[in-house]
Amino acid sequence: MSLGTLFPSLSLALYVSLCVAESVDEVRAAVRRARQAGKIVGFVPTMGALHVGHVSLMQRARAECDLVVTSIFVNPTQFGPSEDFTRYPRPRETDLQICGESGVDVVFYPTVETMYPAGHRTYVEVGGLSEILEGAIRPGHFRGVATVVTKLFNIVQADRAYFGQKDYQQQTLIRVMTRELDLPTEVITCETIRDPDGLALSSRNAYLSPAERQSGLSLSRALRTADALVAGGERDVKRLEAAMRRELESTPGVKIDYAVIVHHESLAELTAAEPTMVALVAATVGSTRLIDNWILRLPRKS
Ligand code: AMP
Repeated sequence: MSLGTLFPSLSLALYVSLCVAESVDEVRAAVRRARQAGKIVGFVPTMGALHVGHVSLMQRARAECDLVVTSIFVNPTQFGPSEDFTRYPRPRETDLQICGESGVDVVFYPTVETMYPAGHRTYVEVGGLSEILEGAIRPGHFRGVATVVTKLFNIVQADRAYFGQKDYQQQTLIRVMTRELDLPTEVITCETIRDPDGLALSSRNAYLSPAERQSGLSLSRALRTADALVAGGERDVKRLEAAMRRELESTPGVKIDYAVIVHHESLAELTAAEPTMVALVAATVGSTRLIDNWILRLPRKS
């Protein structure tokens, strides 16, 4: 689904009631006022370049909370030295317009210096989960994610925070971290929004040429193949993984990082099928890294 379909008047939109806060004090003041009035505060952290996937989180927060805060911050500590931090899209005006149209009340839009003043040296590490899968391929990535999310949770102090299933390992890690650090924000995971052809929406899809985008469809095809095999009775995890790999390998221009079936909470690789499993795929298409996932549920025995 395109943003134009969702917001036909996007270019004309007015978002007069949107408060854009650039300092920690400004966000805290807005949240404090809401809390004093007994309001429930919802929070949607993002890196901007907003798409309908982000909008779905904002709309869920809008439906469930009284004050909706979104952050837009391209977090340097979660990018590796050879990754796309500098070229990551930063369409500020369009993003603010989308926030306004999606019912956001406050946008926290800090600078790097606000989040990481010179000399910053405190980081959050979630043992084990940070080092596997995405963490193995992007060393330091989850340390950056855990650190920025902890800081944002402390700044905003929301009752609830909304994350996408699209980044399955990220939401798992944030759930574990929130529990183990006793952070008082409830983590809510929302379903992945896809284009009609199956491609999971991502800010990085903007990097794909039309041919690469076609190749990128192999990720969701691989996941659907695994899902169909499970529905048809396949219970051999290795055979399911092999089927996903075959789908990816047979697509030109796709370089697989992993295609695995894991435990839905620990993300440990499985040797035998479980009632709920997660299929995780990651691949590079051209120069763009794509990830996707699918929850696989064994049909209940009647
Ligand atoms: P990002 O701006 O990529 O850091 O994403 C911000 C939030 O939006 C994260 O919680 C993502 O998991 C979520 N998100 C990204 N893409 C999607 C999608 N296609 N559907 C649902 N949520 C998404």
